[in-house]
Amino acid sequence: MSKRLLLEEYRSGILTGNRAILSRAITLIESTLDSDSELASQLVQEILPKTGNSIRVGITGVPGVGKSTFIESFGKLLVDRGHQVAVLAVDPSSQKTKGSILGDKTRMENLASDKRAFIRPSPTGSTLGGVTSKTREAMLLCEAAGFDVILIETVGVGQSETAVKGMVDFFLLLMLAGAGDELQGIKKGIMEMADGLFINKAEGKNILEAKKAKANYSNALHLFPLGENSWSPKVMTGSSLDRTGLDEVWKMISEFESTTQEHGFWLKNRENQRVNWLNEYVQDLLGKAFIADKAVKKLLEDSKIQIRSGELSPIILAKRLAQLFLKSSTR
Ligand code: GDP
Repeated sequence: MSKRLLLEEYRSGILTGNRAILSRAITLIESTLDSDSELASQLVQEILPKTGNSIRVGITGVPGVGKSTFIESFGKLLVDRGHQVAVLAVDPSSQKTKGSILGDKTRMENLASDKRAFIRPSPTGSTLGGVTSKTREAMLLCEAAGFDVILIETVGVGQSETAVKGMVDFFLLLMLAGAGDELQGIKKGIMEMADGLFINKAEGKNILEAKKAKANYSNALHLFPLGENSWSPKVMTGSSLDRTGLDEVWKMISEFESTTQEHGFWLKNRENQRVNWLNEYVQDLLGKAFIADKAVKKLLEDSKIQIRSGELSPIILAKRLAQLFLKSSTR
């Protein structure tokens, strides 16, 4: 493991846009050592005034829909226009495989080698809350380092969507034409979260099918009541491979930004997200402390047989454990 830098070295490296130091700072944030955690929290606090100047975009869709191809092409379009693009990921499944949706270096090869872009795989962690929290902190560091577009990829099959929705300004759902909704594993809840849909792989003989799907999804989206942001989600078609339709996606995101900034939702949403972040962090810290508590561990171990056999109600045990934890933590 490489040596830790001093707080000031991390801070000035990040603020001057030093990629190597940014990477090391994210590694510091992802560390599970207590001493690193202290330094990491100080660092986030230090750079906080320099954060927030980016558009944060969440990107989801089932595996195979073309997320990494989309991010590669879309990212390239943005860097060519002078943007600095950071790509992060939330992938709870990577905890099991120890891999990551962005871990495979062959994905997003071109963007990864572009100096105007920064790609960071999903952190591994024991809980989705932990992974999410680290991704949020990494996002802030990227902003402080000058990235003005943050793309956060997630896998499209579970709770990670809600987590990503909770940290971005705009949520984009990638879809395929012709595959049933069930086939795409997309739940109504995820459709409701989306601010925009992009029907990918709309090229050649797929174009017609994509147009039909666009009409269907537009109709379906209109049935949902308008959210707090008063934005009616748009449906676009295009091809990440042929790099078509991507400009329209950027226009849509920019329009979303200007309209929601005008009526105040943009800032309010970010404020709410910060409060939620606090809540999640508290839960995460308490959860960890609870599991690490010796008395809790012992009672849990001792009660396992009764819980498994159904003899003891989990509610009663949970209450006992909570009381025990409170007692031992105030001692
Ligand atoms: P992910 O799992 O959602 O990240 O999907 P990938 O980006 O890895 O893409 C899955 C497969 O679809 C790959 O073989 C891509 O080359 C292909 N693909 C992605 N976008 C397009 C597209 O716009 N058109 C076509 N024809 N294939 C695409």
